[in-house]
Amino acid sequence: MSQILDGVAVRNEILSRLKPRIEKLKRKPGLAVVLVGHNPASEVYVRSKIKTCAEIGLFSEKLTPPETISTEELLAVIEELNRRPDIDGILVQMPLPKQVDARRVLEAVAPHKDADGFHPVNVGHLVAGRPAPRACTPAGIMELLKYYKIPIQGRRAVVLGRSDIVGKPMALMLLHESATVTICHSRTADLADECRRADILVAAIGKAAMVTGDFIAPGTTVIDVGMNRVTDRVEAARLGKADEFERKGQILVGDVLPLDVARVASAYTPVPGGVGPLTIAMLMANTVALAEQHQLH
Ligand code: NAP
Repeated sequence: MSQILDGVAVRNEILSRLKPRIEKLKRKPGLAVVLVGHNPASEVYVRSKIKTCAEIGLFSEKLTPPETISTEELLAVIEELNRRPDIDGILVQMPLPKQVDARRVLEAVAPHKDADGFHPVNVGHLVAGRPAPRACTPAGIMELLKYYKIPIQGRRAVVLGRSDIVGKPMALMLLHESATVTICHSRTADLADECRRADILVAAIGKAAMVTGDFIAPGTTVIDVGMNRVTDRVEAARLGKADEFERKGQILVGDVLPLDVARVASAYTPVPGGVGPLTIAMLMANTVALAEQHQLH
């Protein structure tokens, strides 16, 4: 029987460890969330981030500039947040509209207020193994591996995907814990063979259920980062989720085929309820750490 790695339990543990740290501070840590336009998925993510702030006693402020905002105007919004003493962390919800230069906007966030850990200065700190805000999704996965005492040192870790927000920082974090790391991507030859060598396989490609049983050796721990919406009935049935599709009219599936991972892996994160809850918990952890830095040092 494979073990299910429950992300909600880990999220709760991370948040409960933050509460006494928040109580020690003179003022509530403050998180500003910048949500441009009306992307429905972004609105859902931002709502849960703000709800979690309230749940653990963080001050949050949502800024909602219009879809038509220019790069210069958005840079001015960020500059103002950089100056405000009540704001410890700034998060710019992606994606931004086409006319906005997203890179310039992310780089305008002061590194000491970078709640997402995406600023190149903080990425540099990650490479060098120095403390700094870390990208939330991979940092949450590290917490999950520790919570479930999954051995990392000396193990083979394969990270499928090389994005700046998941794949690359994930590979670095596993490397710092002394895993032997392979990074795979869309040009990797013999992808399934590479993945089968993993003791820990992290799939972050954004392709519904692409990782099938052939990618997974028995005994592997599989972390499924993917969050893909399937709206086709036949496809949902092929993925073993026909009943759920009939109830909801759509399903959410990861990058890993659920039926196969449950059969072959020794442990795996479900979708939903695996990696998703960890990302917001680590956003809270980054914000609290930034507030401590601002108030205690
Ligand atoms: P991304 O920026 O689109 O990157 C996808 C990566 O996967 C790229 O490196 C790409 O390779 C690789 N890839 C794509 N198709 C492939 C294929 N057929 N074979 C091998 N590699 C392939 O995606 P992302 O932002 O990292 O997100 C990945 C997934 O995680 C998405 O489903 C996203 O929704 C989900 N996600 C979830 C959370 C959460 O909190 N649960 C957080 C972030 C992301 P190339 O570089 O060669 O193009």
